[in-house]
Amino acid sequence: MALIVQKYGGTSVGSVERIQAVAQRVFRTVKAGNSLVVVVSAMGKTTDGLVKLANEITSNPSRREMDMLLSTGEQVSIALLSMALHRLGQPAISLTGAQVGIVTEAEHTRARILRIETDRLNRHLQKGEVVVVAGFQGISATDDLEITTLGRGGSDTSAVALAAALQADFCEIYTDVPGILTTDPRLVPDAQLMTEITSDEMLELASLGAKVLHPRAVEIARNYGIPLVVRSSWTDDPGTWVISPPPKPRPLEGLELVRPVDAVEFDTDQAKVSLLRVPDRPGVAARLFGEIASQDLDVDLIIQSIHEGNSNDIAFTVTKDSLNKAEAVANAIIPALCKPLLGESIPALDAAEVMVEQQIAKVTISGAGMIGRPGVAAQMFSTLADAGINIQMISTSEVKVSCVIAQEDCDRAIAVLCEAFEVTSSPVSEGTGYRATELDIAPSASAVSSAPAALHPPVRGVALDLKQARLAIRQVPDRPGMAAKIFKLLADQNISVDMIIQSQRCRVVNGMTTRDIACTVAQMDGELARLALEKAASELGYGEVLVDAAIAKVSIVGSGMVGQPGVAARMFTALAEQHINIQMIATSEIKISCLVAEDDGVRALQAIHAAFGLSGSQKIQVPA
Ligand code: ADP
Ligand code: ASP
Ligand code: MG
Repeated sequence: MALIVQKYGGTSVGSVERIQAVAQRVFRTVKAGNSLVVVVSAMGKTTDGLVKLANEITSNPSRREMDMLLSTGEQVSIALLSMALHRLGQPAISLTGAQVGIVTEAEHTRARILRIETDRLNRHLQKGEVVVVAGFQGISATDDLEITTLGRGGSDTSAVALAAALQADFCEIYTDVPGILTTDPRLVPDAQLMTEITSDEMLELASLGAKVLHPRAVEIARNYGIPLVVRSSWTDDPGTWVISPPPKPRPLEGLELVRPVDAVEFDTDQAKVSLLRVPDRPGVAARLFGEIASQDLDVDLIIQSIHEGNSNDIAFTVTKDSLNKAEAVANAIIPALCKPLLGESIPALDAAEVMVEQQIAKVTISGAGMIGRPGVAAQMFSTLADAGINIQMISTSEVKVSCVIAQEDCDRAIAVLCEAFEVTSSPVSEGTGYRATELDIAPSASAVSSAPAALHPPVRGVALDLKQARLAIRQVPDRPGMAAKIFKLLADQNISVDMIIQSQRCRVVNGMTTRDIACTVAQMDGELARLALEKAASELGYGEVLVDAAIAKVSIVGSGMVGQPGVAARMFTALAEQHINIQMIATSEIKISCLVAEDDGVRALQAIHAAFGLSGSQKIQVPA
């Protein structure tokens, strides 16, 4: 006999017939000898409908009133499901988030769960009742007991949090697809089902646009070691398991607000190659990294920043012993990259240049708790700035922020970051040739990874995010502390940023060296971000702030790409073959993201999915 939390999404409870089918499955699960807590979403597109109603009244509704409105959707479906269970003779009771005691912070429309009371749940379970809980909602910890919601898609998070609080045996997410697929089957019908995926990979996919799981649900599953499976509501097929590493012990108090950073990692075996002023056109990145891969050189970080005019900068890091070879490849390929196209008269070759830097190090903070908490990256930047350390490159993912800095600053950076994030000990891998300090720091995973490549294909999944906007901040003074100030400004508005990139090229404006910084934010935050940054422009001394919402982000994810040369080249080649121009590139250890024009997004996704051989023979049909 197991204690199971099951969650049914909107489509799965989209009609009376479907609610009855859910009741049947719940009933069968209980009859098999299990105790059950069931979390449900609002029926079908109810929540979208409620948002639309609000927008018909005002374009800027109060966030508190939005919570009041949106939380009603789930209240309908819990009552109906409970009735359907009664009809089958199964004792059941529906409870709202408040009645359960799903206690959250008072942040309306994006509250994080602080704790879940389990007394009442256990009382009902002990009586043999199925408890049907409204997903997506909670109650604030303040005296006023405000109704809160967890953010769109948040019922997944309610379910996994309940499983953690109740120490359930596992959590099942029932939805309208057979499980986690290589990409969204609505855009690529021959996407393939995976039988399992690691929580790290799923965290990346979820945060890069795969909406099948809410990233915070994956975070909780990973933090508390909850076995999690995504399955179809329409069949008994086994679905996809999300595999988490054995968790470190964690209190249940402060559930989603525990320490955001688990580890500080470093890698001193890195060197940087930058190509400045190469033409901004399809195929450039593909040729460069194709050549690098054919020399069997493994690149770690790659960034391509945006720039004014018709040229780009591309920078990448390799291990120090590969630097000479990588530099030679870069120098050799520049003439080919810069050859003017027919009818073009740009003197590209004169302008282009290769720069290398050997004395660099990468420092990384990692931890699933930083998801949706923009203040964490900002704190890393300000901690480095306060220590007078300049950041040369930044690479971010949902669970990691890496900064490339001068090698001589590495020890100091580790010390101040450990202090700032209260990381005292993390496991050290022996014999990797990396420095372990008395602070007990782990060398970065890319440096010590024990060949997962053999177990996994390099790319597990591909995601498309059409809801991002690109921000460009021009002529930012090149001195310590600027990234910290800029991202603190955005964090103060609760705006999460991704793909933060500083241009490699410096420009001297009024005697001051400047660089451009670009990043992506959620489209709905674009204007707010621009206004906040513009307000501070003269004080902080940077130039124009531009926002472009007509962009798409396509990403590949897979832990197998660590230590496998040629993965980036394959992605860039797939785009080049479609004549799709890459506007920005950012990588982390297990993902590569490219920004392309919005209109190219779906074509880019399809081309990349095919290029990595992810298509299956079966076509996935998604019910309406
Ligand atoms: P629910 O209402 O059950 O929570 P969602 O609509 O939130 O369902 O999530 C399921 C949808 O996620 C699927 O219908 C599919 O279109 C989309 N999706 C995007 N990426 C993936 C992926 N990699 N695997 C499976 N589904 C995906
Ligand atoms: N009903 C909410 C939404 O549509 C929560 C969820 O379904 O997960 O976002
Ligand atoms: Mg969902």
